[in-house]
Amino acid sequence: MTQDMNLAFYDRVSAELADIHAQGLTKPERVIASRQGPVISVNGRDVLNFCANNYLGLAGDERVTQAGIKAQEKWGAGTASVRFICGTLEIHKELERAIADYLGFEDAILFAAAFDANGGIFEPLFTEADAIVSDSLNHASIIDGVRLSKAQRYRFANSDMADLEAKLKEARAGGARNIIIATDGAFSMDGYIGKIDQIRALADQYQALIMVDDCHATGFLGDKGKGSFAHCGVEVDFVTGTFGKALGGAMGGFICARPSVVELLKQRARPYLFSNALAPAVCGSSLEAIRIAAGDEGDKLRAQLFANAARFRSAMAEAGFDLLPGEHPIIPVMLGDAKLAQDMAARLLELGVYVIGFSFPWCRAARPASAPRCLRPTPSNRSTPPSPPSPRRARSWGSSDTPNRSYDFRLSSAMMTDRPTGLSAAHSTTAAISGATDMPI
Ligand SMILES: *Cc1c(COP(=O)(O)O)cnc(C)c1O
Repeated sequence: MTQDMNLAFYDRVSAELADIHAQGLTKPERVIASRQGPVISVNGRDVLNFCANNYLGLAGDERVTQAGIKAQEKWGAGTASVRFICGTLEIHKELERAIADYLGFEDAILFAAAFDANGGIFEPLFTEADAIVSDSLNHASIIDGVRLSKAQRYRFANSDMADLEAKLKEARAGGARNIIIATDGAFSMDGYIGKIDQIRALADQYQALIMVDDCHATGFLGDKGKGSFAHCGVEVDFVTGTFGKALGGAMGGFICARPSVVELLKQRARPYLFSNALAPAVCGSSLEAIRIAAGDEGDKLRAQLFANAARFRSAMAEAGFDLLPGEHPIIPVMLGDAKLAQDMAARLLELGVYVIGFSFPWCRAARPASAPRCLRPTPSNRSTPPSPPSPRRARSWGSSDTPNRSYDFRLSSAMMTDRPTGLSAAHSTTAAISGATDMPI
């Protein structure tokens, strides 16, 4: 009897997988045989990389790599302990100081990932007496973190300030003790930068705190790459972020906040209390990445990043592709069809360009509740296979006959390599693209 039920379970798993596959939504793992960088080795050949979150090109940087090795030599593989039991090394304190100083905060707390930082921030700080007002397109980890807290929850439409104000009013009318507004600093699927200045004004008006997740901003947006809040010229109460993107690309997360908040989180945040301390190698690499990003070299890397993004954007627009507007180096290329996006990504890989098709559950257009802004609101997007400005081109990539329910093909531009030899593949394919880029989840 039990055995039969277990067999049914495995059948159900297989059926679900088959369903994902049938919809053309399978996400394959492509194996890379080199360091992360503008050019990577895939299937035995060098291809241009438009997919990593390696905004400043530091993930494969020799200095960042060596700093990790040095830290590992000094401190070993790790602490075999959580921080508060027997796992706080000098290098952890050094990294907390460095990230806090870089972003202009008094203190910081480290986590194994930004996912954990977002999972750990709300529950200890906000109770049923409080309210969390969260952007509808916030990262999955913020959504999970909010779920773990007992606070009242309000959701406002993505970057819709009128809706945010309505929700703040509601929360105030509901008698909330404290209100916290939670938002991504830059939204990873469409590259839109959060309206942190307007959020600041509303927060002041309604006496709310602000938490910004700057995973797609730390290191490259705003003055010295301090992030979206610096880009918008305002201060916020909490910044969560990652060392896994622009700041070296290894892994690890953090929360920057006032010392009292950090102290309380160190007493109460469950991912901090019940998960191992960050590995020394990760700390060493992250420290070196912060040093580079915070200095003059960081300014040069950021200038290069945005020059690349502008070049990619203008050349792709000229070639007739449908792009979402914006200034962030994430530059989504809209195809209107999930299967087409997968096929096009596969074909581009053959041509020496590494991109990935993005669709449900990441793409906003695939979420019925959200405004379908990444779809052009023309009938063509839903009712026919790709009819962006370049239908002939799109068809030649091999489109499906049946329209699919997801739409997004997302590329983003990032580092131009200073190794021009790596770019030859680009010239024969997407002539205008030189450089590698980044694409987040
Ligand atoms: C990548 C990302 C995360 C997760 O970061 P990790 O350090 O890899 O866990 C969280 N929030 C946002 C907005 C992200 O883009």
